[in-house]
Amino acid sequence: MIVDLHTHTNRSDGTLPPVELLQHAAAAGIELLSITDHDTIAAYRDIELVPTTKALTVIPGVEFSTEWQRTGVHILGLNVDLSSDAIRTSTVFQIDARKQRAARIAERLDRAGIADTLAGAAAIAKWGAIGRPHFAQHLVERGVVKTLAEAFRKYLGAGKAGDVKQHWASFDQIIEWIRDSGGTPVLAHPGKYGLTRSKRNALIKDFQRSGGQGLELISGQQDPMLTESLATTAENLGLYASVGSDFHQLGQPWARLGMHLGLPKACRPVWECW
Ligand code: AMP
Ligand code: MN
Ligand code: MN
Ligand code: MN
Repeated sequence: MIVDLHTHTNRSDGTLPPVELLQHAAAAGIELLSITDHDTIAAYRDIELVPTTKALTVIPGVEFSTEWQRTGVHILGLNVDLSSDAIRTSTVFQIDARKQRAARIAERLDRAGIADTLAGAAAIAKWGAIGRPHFAQHLVERGVVKTLAEAFRKYLGAGKAGDVKQHWASFDQIIEWIRDSGGTPVLAHPGKYGLTRSKRNALIKDFQRSGGQGLELISGQQDPMLTESLATTAENLGLYASVGSDFHQLGQPWARLGMHLGLPKACRPVWECW
């Protein structure tokens, strides 16, 4: 079965409109898909009227930003009830946090010598889930940098002027909101936080202690050694396993929609509990 439980549309920082994402997903032969935009479920308003086909099941999802021990981490809420109070409350809180953060990013870029970036970035983030990729795109359009990667390297990445911290809902609060919405909290791409293996394991244990239930064992193209190590951790702790491409746009082979992401045999797939 082709499963992809981590994808983005243009409602956050992806490029495809939700309906086009579904078309590409169907063409890629995906059977189980989740759209997990950053801190928003806006994509689901757009696909409400799209009939689900027998071949493609859509699992309602979202990717929340939060912080663990001063490291920014992402938590997926999979199979959430989109009409629940917890999802409404959490996405309103997080989108507001994104707006406040955007103003601070603009202030800090201003101090770093690049004035008036807020309006331009906000215009790119048309649906309100504004984030660093929209600032990056704006800097490219203004000719300040040549590529998005350069924008992150010089201005928006970890430790740079536009890397503003401490404003998201807490780690425990995010997990609680996902559980309250009937969803399954899954720690997104545990290998992408630049943590040592022992710190990563501490994060995973805290995640489980706070009510987390799954690990994203595979995120796009990744080192098979990492997959194996995460699989062992998931098995030892009794956590469910999830897989996703983290698709944002066409033409990125390392995050291709529905890329074959088979789970190691001993894992308990998260979708078996729905
Ligand atoms: P934010 O949600 O505003 O903190 O932005 C994080 C998002 O920026 C991630 O989900 C990625 O899609 C994107 N991103 C992070 N690092 C880079 C990079 N070096 N180049 C391009 N995009 C990046
Ligand atoms: Mn993103
Ligand atoms: Mn992420
Ligand atoms: Mn993502």
